[in-house]
Amino acid sequence: MVVIYFLQSNNGGQIYSHTYQLDMIRNLLGPSICFHENCKAQCETAAELRRHITGISNTNDKHGNCQEAITKCKYCNLHGKRKFIENKHYNTYHTTIKCDICNLQIKLTDLRSHYNYHKEQKNRLRLKVHNYEKKI
Ligand SMILES: [Zn+2]
Ligand SMILES: [Zn+2]
Ligand SMILES: [Zn+2]
Repeated sequence: MVVIYFLQSNNGGQIYSHTYQLDMIRNLLGPSICFHENCKAQCETAAELRRHITGISNTNDKHGNCQEAITKCKYCNLHGKRKFIENKHYNTYHTTIKCDICNLQIKLTDLRSHYNYHKEQKNRLRLKVHNYEKKI
């Protein structure tokens, strides 16, 4: 039998003394299962489940971060499911690639305009070369 102790809070309600105590009780009741329909990961402890949901899993955690949980992108303000934010969204908007001309890291979304910028520079340089060659 599981015995749960309550403490009396100032306003008369019943609260747990500490969230870790709450975790201990949850652990006694069985595995902590992720509530996201398409995930349902069975975590060993309530603490592991909390890390799973909030995206701070450590390497010992069996399930890692929940791919179904809503998270905020680290690089912009977009919110969405982790599987979208950390994959398709990140790859589309936040990956960079090295420019072969100036060696700067360019965001993929800026690649076309960056390329056009160098193309204009090249045109100006070619004009200078032609003007110089006409004179000799
Ligand atoms: Zn999950
Ligand atoms: Zn983003
Ligand atoms: Zn460049």
